[in-house]
Amino acid sequence: MNDTIASIATSLGVGAISIIRVSGTEAIKIVNKIFKGKDLKKVASHTIHYGHIINNEEIIDEVLVSVMKKPKTYTMEDVVEINCHGGIASTNKVLELLLLNGCRLASPGEFTKRAFLNGRIDLIEAEAVSDLINSETDLERKVAINGLEGNLSKLIKDIRNNLLNIISNIEVNIDYPEYQDIYEVTLEDLKKQVPNIKIKLEKLVMDYENTKLLHKGINVAIIGRPNVGKSSLLNKLLDENKAIVTNIPGTTRDIVEGTIYLDGIKLNIIDTAGIRETNDVVESIGVSKSLKALKNANLILLLLNNNEEITNEDKDLISKTNDKTTIIVINKNDLNTKLDLTTLNLENVVSINTIDNQGIDSLKNKIKELFNFDMINNSDFTYITNLRQITKIKEALNILNELEIGINQEQDLDILEMDLKDIWNTLGLIIGESYDEELLDDLFKNFCVGK
Ligand code: GDP
Repeated sequence: MNDTIASIATSLGVGAISIIRVSGTEAIKIVNKIFKGKDLKKVASHTIHYGHIINNEEIIDEVLVSVMKKPKTYTMEDVVEINCHGGIASTNKVLELLLLNGCRLASPGEFTKRAFLNGRIDLIEAEAVSDLINSETDLERKVAINGLEGNLSKLIKDIRNNLLNIISNIEVNIDYPEYQDIYEVTLEDLKKQVPNIKIKLEKLVMDYENTKLLHKGINVAIIGRPNVGKSSLLNKLLDENKAIVTNIPGTTRDIVEGTIYLDGIKLNIIDTAGIRETNDVVESIGVSKSLKALKNANLILLLLNNNEEITNEDKDLISKTNDKTTIIVINKNDLNTKLDLTTLNLENVVSINTIDNQGIDSLKNKIKELFNFDMINNSDFTYITNLRQITKIKEALNILNELEIGINQEQDLDILEMDLKDIWNTLGLIIGESYDEELLDDLFKNFCVGK
């Protein structure tokens, strides 16, 4: 950690500006060696300076250099950022000069790792930086920024403080039984306090389950007999949202898929062509892909034709989707009604047509309703979306369940205290109060270089 690191912080390519970031004890001194302009060692912190990067007497680039002295910097070390004219050759040359003058090339995420190791951010906040960079939807961004703002960390820290309070009281009781005036923790206290902690942890797990789809998007499969209007519906949904349509070749009727955003939530929609029994080799590839899409779907839009009587094939499809969240979409409601579903007792039925778009909004609203978009959009975003963090929460909950059994069996407080400590420790791992190198390497290698 004592060396000074450097890397290109912007994406490498031809652009208006590239930024090279340098951090460490020698940052200012090293940049000063290759900078012609003011003496950077003498400038005030958080100031920007015009000048040139030079290699001996040769001018490499015209730059603006920001000097930020510790501790109020991203890494809590001295940080210098060089704004060069964008361009692969000149940016690389500046970086090369920095390396020749004593910097080491930073590994992915190393600036953020230093911010963590120097205590500016905790692990949750570090992971939120990575989530923020990788967020594709507005909701993902909101969740990430919430993590970065420390709301989740605060929640975990509050629970840990609560636990610590109980633990220290028990310890005092055990160590100094002779003091009468010290508050004595009883089983009754634990019976009152432990459930409160449990509720908070369980809410985190529940919110995680509810919002898991937020990161991956909802997989939507459109199924139905040929000619009911599957492609028309897909095109309607995609066109309106100007999504990208991908054709997957190799099938008689290509499977078409595309992505749209509904209130900031991603829907991966796939038109499954036909799920028919077939002997045709090429078509059977399409069929097996359709079945796979069906299996992976979180939502099925099952299309029926309003202008035709229901067929056995339709009924077969309805029974195949029994165990999935399904919306029955009656298409072609601009034509005469011949379809009769009264005997089938179906839930979630929406009637549409793709000619004048009637019912498309009702269909979208139905999707929002089934996936609780309102709840997701209106809540406070103190969510865990990170697998590592949620695994630890679940571990803590398991210990807490053991603890509750112990409390009910009226075990001794010093035995129960061990579980309390275990929970406290496990929650500590989430924010990085303790960690091992392997975890850090694993976590930061997913970052981009320069972050
Ligand atoms: P798919 O085989 O299920 O993908 O069906 P298509 O989307 O290719 O549509 C089959 C035929 O039905 C096409 O001629 C469409 O123009 C027509 N079609 C689709 N939706 C509607 C609708 O809402 N009303 C009417 N009248 N025709 C439709």
